[in-house]
Amino acid sequence: MEPRPSASQVRRPGLRPAASLLSPPSPMVPHPSSGPRVVQKALPRRQVQLPKHQTQTPPPRFDLLLQLKSVRFCSSFQMAAAAEHGNCDAWAARDPSGVLSPYKFNRRAVQSSDVSLKIIYCGVCYGDVMWIQNKHNDSVYPLVPGHEIAGVVTEVGADVKAFKVGDHAGVGTYVNSCRHCENCNSSLENYCPETVFTYNTTDADGTITKGGYSTHIVVHERYCFKIPDGYPLAQAAPLLCAGITVYTPMARHNMKQPGKSLGVIGLGGLGHMAVKFGKAFGLKVTVFSTSESKREEAINLLGADNFVISSDTQQMEALKNSLHFIVDTASGDHPFDPYLSLLKVGGVMTIVCFPSEIKMHPASLNRGGRTLSGSIVGGTKDIQEMVNFCAENKIYPEIEIIKMDYINEALARLVNRDVKYRFVIDIKNSFE
Ligand SMILES: [Zn+2]
Ligand SMILES: [Zn+2]
Repeated sequence: MEPRPSASQVRRPGLRPAASLLSPPSPMVPHPSSGPRVVQKALPRRQVQLPKHQTQTPPPRFDLLLQLKSVRFCSSFQMAAAAEHGNCDAWAARDPSGVLSPYKFNRRAVQSSDVSLKIIYCGVCYGDVMWIQNKHNDSVYPLVPGHEIAGVVTEVGADVKAFKVGDHAGVGTYVNSCRHCENCNSSLENYCPETVFTYNTTDADGTITKGGYSTHIVVHERYCFKIPDGYPLAQAAPLLCAGITVYTPMARHNMKQPGKSLGVIGLGGLGHMAVKFGKAFGLKVTVFSTSESKREEAINLLGADNFVISSDTQQMEALKNSLHFIVDTASGDHPFDPYLSLLKVGGVMTIVCFPSEIKMHPASLNRGGRTLSGSIVGGTKDIQEMVNFCAENKIYPEIEIIKMDYINEALARLVNRDVKYRFVIDIKNSFE
C-alpha cells in the first residue's frame, strides 16, 4: 500500500518531494494516550566495518540555481576533495544498497544567524529509505539521512534572536530557502522553489546537506523550532516530519471543528498522528485499514472511534456521505472513488501520500461538491504552531527508541511496516 514514488515523480536534483511525505509504507488505520509511550529497544551492538572517513570541501560560491542543478557535479568535486576527518560523527549510506555505516564529515562553523544543535534524537522516516536507496535517482553518496531532529542548542550566532544555549530545539525536513519569494514571505518555505532539504540537497554554500543521523547540525535559526520545556525530546523528533505533514492540511482545511467527522486512511507514522490530531480537534475519527490486526490499537491505543476494513464493501457502503474530512496517508496504489464517496457534500479529502497515480471518476468530486487536495510537510510558522499545540494538548507520537547501530535492521522493519509507529534513534547515547 504504501510504496514509493516513481522516478517520474522526481524533480530535479535537490528539489524532490520532501520526505515524510513519503510516509513509511503504512497500511491503513488508527486515542491519544495520556502520556508519552515509548518502547525501548535494547540490542546488542553489531560489528560494523569502519569506512574511510571523508569530508566535503565546499566549491566556490556561485548562483544558487546553478548549484541546485549541479548536485552531481558538486558531488564528484567534493568526493575528490574528500579528507580523512571531520567535526561531525554520523552514519551514512555509501551506495544504493542503502546499508548505513559510520562516517565523519565537517559541519560549517556557526554563522551570525545560525544555531548549532547537539542532536539527541532523530526520527526514522520512510523518506530516508527512499534516498538511501536512490529511489528518486538523485541520491549523492555518502548520504546521511534524517530529518526529524531534536536536540539541545550548544552555540548561537551573534544575530540569533529566538534561541539561546541550552534551549531544546528541532529541525525538520528543510534547512534553507530563498527567503524572498512569495512563498517564503508567507511562511510557506516548504513550497519555495529553492527549498534546501535537510539532506541530499545542495545548500547555498555548495555543500550537500547531511541529515540528523549525526551528532550535531548547524542551521539558520529560521529553520529551527523551539521544543517547549517538558516535552520529551524523543517524541518531539517525529513531529518535525510525520507530525507536520498531517497537521498542516488539517489546519488549512479547518478541521478543528469538534463534533465533525474525520476518516484516516493508513495507520503508519503519518496516519497515527492524524488520528491523534483528529481526536485533539474533537473529531469523530474513523480509521480505514486493510488489516484487521490494527483494530485493537487503533481503538484502544490511539483513540479512534471507528475502524473499518477498506475492502469490506458493506462497511464502506454504510459510511457513504458521512464524513466531513479524510486524510489519506496510504502511499500505496489504492482506489480513490470509494473513499471520495464517503465524503458529505462539500467534504475535503487531502492526500499526504505518493501513490503512483490518482484515478477517479469526476462525479466523485462534482456530484458532492467535494475537494481533493494535496500537501507536503509545512511552513516554518505552522511547524512551530504544531509543536506548541502538541505540547499544550499532550500529544505524543508512539515511538520505538533504537540505537544507531540497529538502524539497518530498523530500516528493513520499516519497509515491512513492522514499527509502531516511528523509530527514533537515540543519537546521544549511540555516539558517546
Ligand atoms: Zn520524513
Ligand atoms: Zn523562497
